[in-house]
Amino acid sequence: MQKLIAGIHHFRKEYWSANRELYRRLAEHGQFPEALFITCSDARVTPMAITHTQPGDLFVVRNMGNFIPPFSENPPEGTGVAASVEYAVEHLKVRDIVVCGHSDCGAMKALYKERDHFAATPHIGPWLRHGDRTMKVVKANYPELSREERYGITAKENVLLQIENLRTYPVVQKAAREGRLHVHAWYFEIGTGRVLRYSPEREQFEPIREE
Ligand SMILES: [Zn+2]
Repeated sequence: MQKLIAGIHHFRKEYWSANRELYRRLAEHGQFPEALFITCSDARVTPMAITHTQPGDLFVVRNMGNFIPPFSENPPEGTGVAASVEYAVEHLKVRDIVVCGHSDCGAMKALYKERDHFAATPHIGPWLRHGDRTMKVVKANYPELSREERYGITAKENVLLQIENLRTYPVVQKAAREGRLHVHAWYFEIGTGRVLRYSPEREQFEPIREE
């Protein structure tokens, strides 16, 4: 905790002071984020840092495994994620949604563990069920993988399947129909610092070039 407390003082003195005008505008006018960024809770994945964005730029949703439960007429299933998606798309009018998986993801590895492994933590098993389809796709399409390869492929396939879930939301369908929303599948490699993007034309993840 000492580290965090020292950090908030340092933040106020250095970062906040240097960006005083930006914070004043954000406080006065509210947030107008460009993008909804959905990623894993993993401490090594830092959306603002990897996109080099500023406060106010990203509306962020994080959870173990960057799962997006499909739209449900009967909340509360997946309500936290669902409410954030609806708010970002319909009220904040974000122009882009990024779903970003990452290498060495603990949630992807956990998908392959026996569910009674999590008996003492009863919310984890049901949450991981949102990755069941991902596991099935990986097992069906990539039978011959080493364990490490399998985790990487799982994280990438998972991003694509969560985007399918995202597209079940009426607000997402409407915004896409009106041409004001684009959805992107990203994958962050912790060890190299590279961010890969899925190319629907070439059906693969590839490095993002500067445009
Ligand atoms: Zn993760």
